[in-house]
Amino acid sequence: MRVLKFGGTSVGSAERMKEVASLITDEHRKVVVLSAMSGTTNSLVDITSYLYKKNHDGATEVISQLEKKYEAEVDALYASEEFKTKGFELIKTHFEYIKSFTKDVFTVFEEKAILAQGELLSTAMFHFYLQEQGVKSVLLPALDFMRIDKNSEPDKEYIRENLANVIADNEGADIYITQGFICRNAFGEIDNLQRGGSDYSASLIGAAIKADEIQIWTDIDGMHNNDPRFVEKTHSISDLSFDEAAELAYFGAKILHPTSVLPAKLENIPVRLLNTMEPKAQGTLISSNHEKKRIAAVAAKDGITAIKIKSGRMLLAYGFLRKVFEIFESYKTPIDMISTSEVGVSVTIDDDTHLNDIVDDLRNFGTVDIDTDQVIVCVVGDLVPANVGYANQVLGALKDIPVRMISYGGSNYNISLLINASDKKKALNALSNNLFNE
Ligand code: ASP
Ligand code: MG
Repeated sequence: MRVLKFGGTSVGSAERMKEVASLITDEHRKVVVLSAMSGTTNSLVDITSYLYKKNHDGATEVISQLEKKYEAEVDALYASEEFKTKGFELIKTHFEYIKSFTKDVFTVFEEKAILAQGELLSTAMFHFYLQEQGVKSVLLPALDFMRIDKNSEPDKEYIRENLANVIADNEGADIYITQGFICRNAFGEIDNLQRGGSDYSASLIGAAIKADEIQIWTDIDGMHNNDPRFVEKTHSISDLSFDEAAELAYFGAKILHPTSVLPAKLENIPVRLLNTMEPKAQGTLISSNHEKKRIAAVAAKDGITAIKIKSGRMLLAYGFLRKVFEIFESYKTPIDMISTSEVGVSVTIDDDTHLNDIVDDLRNFGTVDIDTDQVIVCVVGDLVPANVGYANQVLGALKDIPVRMISYGGSNYNISLLINASDKKKALNALSNNLFNE
C-alpha cells in the first residue's frame, strides 16, 4: 500500500481537487492524506485569536468570509444536485459548529477543535467528489487512530493498532482518505501535530502500515539543489538520503516538514516528493539507496543570532559548556550551531524571544558579543571525512565573504557556515558555481 499526501495548495480549490482525483485513480491501493484547503488553517487561527479576545464580531466576519469561499468551491466541485446538496449540508454542519464557539468560554481545547475543521472539511469534500465519480473510497477519521502521548510525541503503538483496525473494518476499499495534521492527545481530546504537520501525519501513517512508499505532493518539483529565489540555475535533486533530507528540510527547504523524515527513516520507507502541477516530473526520492560521493545541495536559514561567550575561565576547565547550555535550556531556546575554541564558544539561535535574559545570565561567565541578522548557509551531501576536497571547495567558494562561524563533524552530511545576511546571495551563487558548476 502507498501513502499519498496532498498539501493545501494541491487541494486549494475545486479545480485542484479534481486534478488530485485524477492523480490517485490508478491500480495501487493507497491512503490519501489531505491538508486543509490553502489559507483555511490561517483563517481558523484568526478566528480563534478573535475568540480569545472575546471579539465576536471579528470572529463572525472571518467565519462568514470563509463559509462563502467554501460554498463557492462546493458549487464548483460537484456536477449533480444530489452531491451539491450533500456538500452544502457538510459545510453548514462544520460552520455551525465553528459559530457555536462564539457564545461560550474559549480555551485551548476549543481552539484545537476549531483548527481541526479545515482538514475535516477538505477530506469530506474530496471523499464526496470521488463518490460522485464512482470511485470506491472510504473516509478514515484520523481522530480514530492518530494520537499523541503526554509529551506530545506520536503514540506509535496506538496509531499502528488502531489504523490497522479501521483499515480492516473497510477491507474492500482501494482508496482510504484521511486528515493530515489532526489527532487526539493523551486525554482523548482533539489536538494537532503543529502547523505544517500533515507531512508528519503521512509519514506516521506510512510507518504504521509499513507502506511501500510515501509520496508528498506539493506545488514544487522536489527539493532543489540551491535556493531558486537567489540563484538562477537550480534543479531538483533526484535522490537524497534520509539524513540529507532532514538537514535540508530544517534549513529552509519548506517543501517537507522536518519532523516527517524520521518515521520513514526508521522503517526504511522511501519518500517521494512530487509536484501536482507537473505530475510527470521525477521529483526527489528520499531513500537509503541514494547516490554517494557528491554534494547534494546548498540551503540557507535566515534570521539567525550569533552569541559569543569568551572567558579565561573556560581555559582547561570542565563544566563551562554545561553552564552555558543550561542557560539556553532554562529559557527553552534551542541552539542550532556551535563552535568552540579554548577561550570561547559561539552558538546560534533562531528564536531570540529571550535574548536579553540569556545574555544577562551569560555575563556571569564571561564577555558576551551578539551578532544579529546572520544567515546559516549549509552544504549537504556525502561529506564523510574520507571524501577529501569538499571542505576546500566550500571554503574556496567563500574566499571573499566574511565567515563568522564554521561547523563540520556534527554529522557526515553537513557543513554549516554563518555569514552576514547581506552576503547571502553572493555566497549561495559562489557555492553554486564552485560545487555544481553547471
Ligand atoms: N493545515 C495545517 C497547516 O496549515 C497542516 C498542514 O497543512 O500541513 O498548518
Ligand atoms: Mg506543508
